[in-house]
Amino acid sequence: MKWMSKRFTFVVIPDANQSVQRYSVPGLIIVLIPALIILLAICAALFITLFSGKASTLKDVKHQLSLSESGYEEQLKEREDLIAALEADVTALSAQAKHVESRMSEITELELQLKEIAGIQESEVRISSGVTIEEGGQGGEELPLPVQANDSLAAETLQELSAMSSQMDELKPSLEATKEALLKHQRILDITPTIWPADSRKITSTFGVRRDPFTRRAAVHSGLDLGGDRGDPIYAAADGVVTLSERTYPYGNNIIINHGRSIETRYLHLNKRLVEVGATVKKGDLIGELGNTGRSTGPHLHYEVIVGGEHVDPMPYLKEDREEK
Ligand SMILES: [Zn+2]
Repeated sequence: MKWMSKRFTFVVIPDANQSVQRYSVPGLIIVLIPALIILLAICAALFITLFSGKASTLKDVKHQLSLSESGYEEQLKEREDLIAALEADVTALSAQAKHVESRMSEITELELQLKEIAGIQESEVRISSGVTIEEGGQGGEELPLPVQANDSLAAETLQELSAMSSQMDELKPSLEATKEALLKHQRILDITPTIWPADSRKITSTFGVRRDPFTRRAAVHSGLDLGGDRGDPIYAAADGVVTLSERTYPYGNNIIINHGRSIETRYLHLNKRLVEVGATVKKGDLIGELGNTGRSTGPHLHYEVIVGGEHVDPMPYLKEDREEK
């Protein structure tokens, strides 16, 4: 590399009538300049490659960002829709809870009335300490729900539902007791003479002191006479057991039914007896036919009600018509 330490001279001839110019440069420069140019070119190439790489990465990132942005927007929209649906659910649930609560109050009120009918003492009635009829501004009109924060609406609804749940818990045994009482009431009603023993409503003689139709002397009439036609149906006045069914004088064909609780009914002067001793009868069952047997002036039913062995006025026991079967 001896030539690198040498100097080189360049001759420049600008024009024919101008003087020649000489430039002397070291040999090293001759090598350095191309080397520098090549280095610059490499640098430029590297820079371009890197920059274009970065640019595409940046583009990718931007693209991904826009994708996730739209994804988030979509998710946000879904969430918003879900929240709106939940809000609607809570509102509907609240309305439903209020409706059920109102019905519960009605049922509670109805139960109190039933207890009253069944004759259960007020002290026995347990009233729920939770929800009352007045609570929550109930009314006859259907008004739109007040706008309120849904979390408080949900909390209120939850509270209402929980109150109703405990109310139901309390109501169940209470209702069962009422049912029992009503059934007992019904059983008592079944064995109490309440219906007219014949279709006729024609009372020909009442209970009590009257002039005897045969002797014309004052005597106690032990029953109530119902006028009718021979063969008219005669019905059991209550559930019971037939304890007498025979024909004797002066009663003629007659039947006694024992209803329990020391109550008996007796049917006299029948044309026919249709039940025998020991038969179990239900209120309204056909037991015989109206007639004129025994000591009787014409076809009629002599009806007696006997309580504790004593004849009583049957009139208060003629409360209702026989139910058609
Ligand atoms: Zn009579």
